[in-house]
Amino acid sequence: MKLAGRTALVTGAAGGIGAAVARLFVAEGAQVICADVSRDAVFALAGELGESAGAALLDVGERTDWDRVAEAIERRHGRLDVLVNNAGISGLGDIDHIDTEFWERFQRINADSIFHSVQAMAPLLRASGHATIVNVGSLLALRPSAALPAYSAAKASLRAQTKAYALHFAEKGEYVRVNAVHPGSTLTPMMEANLGASEGERAANYARRVAVHPLGAATGRIVLPEDVAKAVLFLSCEDSAFITGIDLPVDGGASIAG
Ligand code: NAD
Repeated sequence: MKLAGRTALVTGAAGGIGAAVARLFVAEGAQVICADVSRDAVFALAGELGESAGAALLDVGERTDWDRVAEAIERRHGRLDVLVNNAGISGLGDIDHIDTEFWERFQRINADSIFHSVQAMAPLLRASGHATIVNVGSLLALRPSAALPAYSAAKASLRAQTKAYALHFAEKGEYVRVNAVHPGSTLTPMMEANLGASEGERAANYARRVAVHPLGAATGRIVLPEDVAKAVLFLSCEDSAFITGIDLPVDGGASIAG
């Protein structure tokens, strides 16, 4: 088991990718704290995962929430070995159709959250002596979209923060590795909500998304939450012991397609 004896915190654990990560981590021997802003869903998930999991109510954009969760982990575990910053929001809106409130919400939840997370959890990660952080970015951090500038910019911030914090810990002689995964279109509630209303519209949009991913031609599919979870596991365990500051696209080649 790749995470035996490790304590992990996964944000957005009640969603598609987060739940896949939490399930895989438990199967690999970790004690997983499932955190989400959606109370019922996250407690249900923790209940399903049994004694290897706990639940925490956490709005990743709220610093006071981070400080409260850090105190609880300090009391219960004394350290944190694995941190997965996965929670995020998505939504369409080009520069002609968004307002300041929309812009600021995306920066708060998808970008500022990384700053709060790393700063609040740093003492617990240092106490581990052998810690990892994985930030869940997006293909749009690498290839921004005109239709989602607020989301693209926030994920680009996540990407830059990943590298800045990776260097920070390493240059201080502290073993806290920080990496990012960048999923393409992934079959989760977030993505399905954006497919459209009618059956025909949804099928056409799904086919368009398959076509964006070069491996879609061979497989007929887009990214699955389990594809992302396996990449997160790789960057969270000893298999990646000398890797820090990288971008790992999980996108069937979409980030390099013309
Ligand atoms: P999802 O909507 O299925 O799950 C997101 C989870 O985050 C939900 O459980 C939600 O309650 C939680 N959440 C939302 N705001 C929160 C907040 N402020 N604090 C704490 N939790 C909050 O989405 P998903 O597709 O599983 O997305 C997970 C991550 O993957 C996100 O960061 C997203 O940007 C990224 N991503 C998703 C896709 C995709 O196509 N699904 C593609 C690229 C990147």
